[in-house]
Amino acid sequence: MSHREKMAAAFCAALLLAGLTAGGASAGGSDSSEEKPVCVPILMYHEIKTYKTGKDVILPWEFENDLKYLAENGYTAVTMEDLLAYTQDEADLPEKPIVLTFDDGYLSTYVYAFPLLKKYHSKIVFSIIGKNTDDFSSIPDDDLDYSHVTWDQLNEMLDSGCVEVQNHSYNLHKYGKRIGCVQLPGESYADYEKLLAGDVGKLQTEIALRTGRLPTTFAYPFGSYSQTTDQILTELGFRATLTCDYGVNLITRDPDCLFRLKRICRSHNHAAGGLLTEAYKTIKQR
Ligand SMILES: [Zn+2]
Repeated sequence: MSHREKMAAAFCAALLLAGLTAGGASAGGSDSSEEKPVCVPILMYHEIKTYKTGKDVILPWEFENDLKYLAENGYTAVTMEDLLAYTQDEADLPEKPIVLTFDDGYLSTYVYAFPLLKKYHSKIVFSIIGKNTDDFSSIPDDDLDYSHVTWDQLNEMLDSGCVEVQNHSYNLHKYGKRIGCVQLPGESYADYEKLLAGDVGKLQTEIALRTGRLPTTFAYPFGSYSQTTDQILTELGFRATLTCDYGVNLITRDPDCLFRLKRICRSHNHAAGGLLTEAYKTIKQR
């Protein structure tokens, strides 16, 4: 751990002891060299179903209860653009920021999460798999067991202001010889760069053309990455990456702090309140 990270961890531990679990930004015109890091937990969701539950599948009322808990406990859901603006010294963050991420682009996010976001005035970061959204746009299917959103549904979500779209690969969301977008043993950097840049860049272009937005964040499929992955993504223009590594993030005005952000997996029967309490302990223990 670097000196800067140790200082940040010590600061967050002090906040915890003071009962200020999330630690708000205190920028407000202060000297940024003295500014304290902001603790930003990121919850990771995948699917919402009414008839099935699991590690990555929760019930609609569970998501609603999370939103209620966050509102009642002073949290404000922010987007990756908000974090980016903070690191670039263009804006401050609310007192208790949190990021709610939904991966994969499932139709269930549109059907169950989207109405609740409007009801509770909350926001999510929605990282889609390009090929799935292309396929379900070509041949619409409303089976909530496996369907993904169409471009039209995505645009409706984006226009609401409750949803931010990000990149989860065009067609590298696979678990086989290559787990997601990792570099294979023996694969040359040139070959890996060609594959990753080609795939991820294709989705960047599609999202830009279909929605008028350009993602700044890449959510690693299965949370897997190689040492070289961020370098290629940075060259493509990405400013942040989301992992499945567990923990709470310490956000500073340094733009580099947005790479390899940690997340907290929200599973069935593991409500946001308990998850956040446990996750903050990882900072306390450091
Ligand atoms: Zn995924």
